[in-house]
Amino acid sequence: MRAAFAFERHGIVFIVSGPSGAGKSTLVEALLRRVPDLTLSISCTTRPPRPGERDGREYHFVDREEFGRRRDAHVFAEWAEVHGSLYGTVRAPLDDAVAGGTDMLLDIDVQGARHLKRSYKEAAVAVMVFPPSWDELERRLRARHTEDEATIERRLRRAREEAEALREYDYWLVNRDLEQSVACLESIVVAERAKVARIVVEGGP
Ligand code: ADP
Ligand code: 5GP
Repeated sequence: MRAAFAFERHGIVFIVSGPSGAGKSTLVEALLRRVPDLTLSISCTTRPPRPGERDGREYHFVDREEFGRRRDAHVFAEWAEVHGSLYGTVRAPLDDAVAGGTDMLLDIDVQGARHLKRSYKEAAVAVMVFPPSWDELERRLRARHTEDEATIERRLRRAREEAEALREYDYWLVNRDLEQSVACLESIVVAERAKVARIVVEGGP
């Protein structure tokens, strides 16, 4: 058999952030269905599960005590308090992915993105998702029926802070039409995977 071109590259940590209700979870789910070889990073959180959420699928749901234990054992690559709950990215799957040339997808806030961009450098690619307008963001957040009024108010207040971190990101998109937004994310993944700078081993015919 003829030898073929085969390149090995570092894995990529794809980060999606944006105001609560912008559509991150929806986009992430659609992207995972569409793009092969992309693994969702499952964070730990002290937030209670929403109806329909399952432990180990959307999050690892833990209490504050257990979260603290894992944090002290350096299980997290980063952790942050967001909307009054604690959230932490589990480190081992990210390190394994980057070293092994596979790619991870993360839905985390701006504090987490900032931290991971500092630790993973060029291996981290961050995308900020905007809603079409603040009014539409509020409408989507309310239409989801997953939070009480106080939580919605808190998430709306924080939305603008989240958007102010745009300049720390590599890409942005406005999630107006879902299909177009997923196509945009897919293009980012495909282009980033094709970067010459990511190659570690070159094999030629
Ligand atoms: P986030 O993860 O950013 O908090 P979600 O993915 O839960 O946001 O989306 C919030 C709500 O908006 C959900 O009810 C979702 O179905 C809806 N949604 C997401 N993207 C769009 C879109 N492009 N157009 C209309 N509604 C959307
Ligand atoms: P939600 O409660 O709506 O699932 O998520 C609330 C916010 O927490 C979102 O902005 C989401 O991106 C963020 N988040 C989820 N997991 C993590 C994590 O592990 N670390 C950080 N820093 N933020 C997270």
